[in-house]
Amino acid sequence: MISVAINGYGTIGKRVADAVAAQDDMKVVGVSKTKPDFEARVAIEKGYDLYVSIPEREKLFDDAGIPVSGTVKDMLEEADIVVDATPEGIGAKNLELYREKGIKAIFQGGEKHDAIGLSFNSFTNYEESLGADYTRVVSCNTTGLCRTLKPIDDLCGIKKVRAVMVRRGADPVQVKKGPINAIVPNPPTVPSHHGPDLKTVMKGVNIHTVALLVPTTLMHQHNIMVELENPVDADEIKAKLDETTRVMLVKASEGLASTAEIMEYAKELGRSRNDLFEIPVWEESINVVEGELFYMQAVHQESDAVPESVDAIRALLELEEDNMKSIMKTNRAMGIL
Ligand code: NAD
Repeated sequence: MISVAINGYGTIGKRVADAVAAQDDMKVVGVSKTKPDFEARVAIEKGYDLYVSIPEREKLFDDAGIPVSGTVKDMLEEADIVVDATPEGIGAKNLELYREKGIKAIFQGGEKHDAIGLSFNSFTNYEESLGADYTRVVSCNTTGLCRTLKPIDDLCGIKKVRAVMVRRGADPVQVKKGPINAIVPNPPTVPSHHGPDLKTVMKGVNIHTVALLVPTTLMHQHNIMVELENPVDADEIKAKLDETTRVMLVKASEGLASTAEIMEYAKELGRSRNDLFEIPVWEESINVVEGELFYMQAVHQESDAVPESVDAIRALLELEEDNMKSIMKTNRAMGIL
């Protein structure tokens, strides 16, 4: 049984903790918090040992009546591997600590590829992280692109991809972020960083992306155009995506015509926190015109890359050589379709 520490128990960290706890080959030895807020209290109620990220703040936890088991350094002593889910840029700073402690670490998409040296997606480059000390699970958007572009590449080859990424302005909990009433080209420069990020895990793919922020918190939405090496028809693409795990075809005609309705569907599925780990692709949007494939998909930014963090643990510790074996194991434990 592998012992996993979660450093940074926020939007991603708390989901990774529950996903790890659901597996039969790994367990959570602790989670870390910077302050004694409601998430810290819930972590304790769920049975996770809580560690403080900023040692000087231990008294604040005592005063709040939230028991802690020590500091992050103590937590790392208990663990075989750490999943770092701290805010963007902090993970890379923590790398020094992990080196010092001689512990393997998995980082999230907010870190730069160059700072970590290796990036990860379960479907496109699992084997590159086998036995590595550190890897970075690519961002929610890049994970979404990998999930559908990889099977399409396998089916008929990809000549060129163009994608327009419509990004949620903030996560539901982020009251200080926006926009509230604007569409913001973000970044305003073209192409955006999403294409280069995909190339860190899907080498050689010819992709350029543009991105904008919109006033919604629910999901990102992608509009993807793919010039195919060996053109196939829309039905073949539908069949391929339909059989691909962690991807689901949804029908606007069945009332799933928007990100709001897709999130309602996730609630109907009874998912914890209404999460949707799969990438929904609108079936009606899939079309091939003059050899070019068009489709639209959505990304539940808070959860889609969480199963990838579990697979990354197996890759780094070489618990599973075969990516599909890890993917199916993770899926079964998390109830992924
Ligand atoms: P978050 O702010 O929700 O959570 C971060 C947690 O880390 C918080 O609990 C915070 O208190 C804690 N923290 C802050 N400083 C710390 C420190 N020095 N040591 C330990 N813990 C510390 O952030 P998030 O949205 O979960 O993002 C985490 C990472 O995941 C980032 O790299 C982000 O880019 C990436 N990511 C986020 C999303 C998303 O949509 N939220 C999606 C995919 C990837």
